[in-house]
Amino acid sequence: MTDAGKNLTADSVEGMVRLSVLLPMPFAGPLDYLYAAPVSEGSILRVPLGPREVTGVVWPAADTKRPSAPDKSDRTVSVEKLKPVAGRVDMPPLTPDLCRFVDWVAAYTLTSRGRVLRMILSVPAALEPPPVQRIFAPGRERPARLTPARARVLDAIAAQGPLSARAAAEAAGVSESVVRGLAKAGALTMREVSADAPYPLPDPTRPGPALSDEQAAAAAAVCGAVTAGEYAVFLLDGVTGSGKTEVYFEAVAAALSRDDETQILVLVPEIALTSQWLDRFEARFGARPVVWHSDVGQAARRRAWAATARGSARVIVGARSALFLPFRKLGLIVVDEEHDPSFKQEDGVLYHARDMAVLRASLGGCPIVLASATPSLETAVNADAGRYRRLRLTARHGGAALPDIRAVDMRRDPPPPGRWIAPPLEADMRDTLARGEQVMLFLNRRGYAPLTLCRTCGHRLECPHCSAWMVEHRFQRRMQCHHCGHSGPVPPACPSCGAEDSLVACGPGVERLFEEVGARFPEARIAVMTSDTLDHPSETARFVADIAAGNVDIVIGTQIVTKGYHFPQLTLVGVIDADLGLRGGDLRAGERTYQQLTQVAGRAGRAARPGRVFLQTYDPAHPVVDALVKGDGARFMALEEDGRRRHAMPPFGRLVALILSGRDESAVIETGRRLAATAPSGQTPGGEAVQVLGPAPAPLARLRGYYRVRLLLHQRGLGRVQALMRDWLKRSEPVKGVTVKVDIDPYSF
Ligand code: ADP
Ligand code: ZN
Repeated sequence: MTDAGKNLTADSVEGMVRLSVLLPMPFAGPLDYLYAAPVSEGSILRVPLGPREVTGVVWPAADTKRPSAPDKSDRTVSVEKLKPVAGRVDMPPLTPDLCRFVDWVAAYTLTSRGRVLRMILSVPAALEPPPVQRIFAPGRERPARLTPARARVLDAIAAQGPLSARAAAEAAGVSESVVRGLAKAGALTMREVSADAPYPLPDPTRPGPALSDEQAAAAAAVCGAVTAGEYAVFLLDGVTGSGKTEVYFEAVAAALSRDDETQILVLVPEIALTSQWLDRFEARFGARPVVWHSDVGQAARRRAWAATARGSARVIVGARSALFLPFRKLGLIVVDEEHDPSFKQEDGVLYHARDMAVLRASLGGCPIVLASATPSLETAVNADAGRYRRLRLTARHGGAALPDIRAVDMRRDPPPPGRWIAPPLEADMRDTLARGEQVMLFLNRRGYAPLTLCRTCGHRLECPHCSAWMVEHRFQRRMQCHHCGHSGPVPPACPSCGAEDSLVACGPGVERLFEEVGARFPEARIAVMTSDTLDHPSETARFVADIAAGNVDIVIGTQIVTKGYHFPQLTLVGVIDADLGLRGGDLRAGERTYQQLTQVAGRAGRAARPGRVFLQTYDPAHPVVDALVKGDGARFMALEEDGRRRHAMPPFGRLVALILSGRDESAVIETGRRLAATAPSGQTPGGEAVQVLGPAPAPLARLRGYYRVRLLLHQRGLGRVQALMRDWLKRSEPVKGVTVKVDIDPYSF
């Protein structure tokens, strides 16, 4: 499909056509340019902007059903003043539904369309002709000198086929010069290929596993909608290990089988996109999907973008930003772990990828599957109201039992001073290891200790730029701020009173837990999994393969271990501090903790042997702990729902956060005062009560040297709030040096 959009109606000027072109810039709506011929909407062009040439998109006229556009039109500029288009980009036009998606996202999130378009045109290089890439394949000669590093490169290429120097080096864990050295020695041959070489196609005709009755019924429902090509939202609500992935793989197969064009998008939380997931996909379909996330390098990124735009990439799996890829013909969207907080984008355009994925599916007329063992309250309420269709999987695949979850009351069974593993958990760890099974300890805190203080004067080591403590990372012998990345050596003496040997670590982080486990279980092989130890996907893959192969006895990890992994020999999960997520009391603290702990618990006993989970807590009667122990998530979520409904909190009401930030504290406070003075009150035009809370210090009152103040608008209903917000922001006089960020539907606050 090329140039299929309808032609723009434009006033002709001496044979030239006036085109409305949206630029991927924050400042404005479309600008008008002149071109020699009519061009279809969505076409990508190069246009002059001041001294520069930039890329833009011929933009469709406003859709009357669209929420009113925030940007001004350029129609008032007289024709003589318009500049001509510099040229066209050899790329299919963006589809009409994608352009409408940009309009909607901008209107919903109260940002400019240009900023949303910038997320779509995120790989400028993809719009240039493809460069060539050098790939290396086995050659004729045996190298005279076969070092272990060289042998690993040859093995990697033998196993994976021809690779770029970078990929081969990465797979072998060596530097690229080793690969080039092998080519020089004749042991590898080098070929130049287009960097945009087509991807191998996943094959939908390969047989999948025999599905259980529940799985088959769920798959049939989704496949029906895929084949019909209709918008429908499915909630695939199945306990951990129930085979949700197999169900949506069937839907992927159905979409691939429709024709040669239909594309499929699978969104997963960034940390759930594991090598295990990709291996499973490949085992099922004979080829890997196209991968899109923040770790994907520039060359792979441009190849993925271009192939998506041209339609040759058929299955794309990615983190939230993959939603903004330029699909030609979307036939299915899957959002796996739909409840996951990481779908909320907290920088730039503040959107929730799950919600925007549903919007995209509705605009594109395709089905969408939201999968989770612990659906978000938002999604559950939509399913109960009949807006989404709920498909349930109630049992683990192959009859594996759900783990037995118990609470360890830390008041009755405390660990000895300076230790964090309580006696009941320690005893079960010993039994588990004695049986040759694996243990996972979960503690969502990187580093050695969350707080370091001086025993002499009580001084706490704080980040100079943030209202946050510095966290000791003993493996690296450094102090680090987890909010801005500021780091420095561990001070030898208290920076405040100068006392030596007076600084003490307070509380546990995973590194401290590692120390304790090493001391208690000197024979055990221990692995620590955090974003500090796994900063590269290939490293993670090795780690995971090692654990799956049984080369590790005890895994200690942060939330990075909670997602997606399937370790058949893992039968015991210990949660070191089950109360951690419940402190602080934001709206979703209970829901989020319940979801996270269910995920961690779900790592235990996924195969033949049953699993056990110990939740260490000081509050065993807490509804979240109680629900986990009793396996009664439904009752907990019903309670949660009741509370939210009573207070008209999301998903029964709306919140909008205004975050004001600036380097000058008094200017930030002044902005807060002005916004409060002009705040809307009473009712929205739709008759829903609104109230503004604040200004108050934002949860991180200082971040990277910026002072932050927050106002929170609460609307007792779900009507549109955007027009009211826009009016409010317009009424308030801005203060220099202070930015105001609007977060519609903030996730946490
Ligand atoms: P979920 O996504 O619900 O946590 P998975 O899809 O990961 O569950 O399934 C858990 C395990 O059970 C995986 O190892 C998967 O391969 C296996 N499995 C699920 N369904 C089937 C099936 N119908 N036949 C064979 N194996 C299955
Ligand atoms: Zn900091």
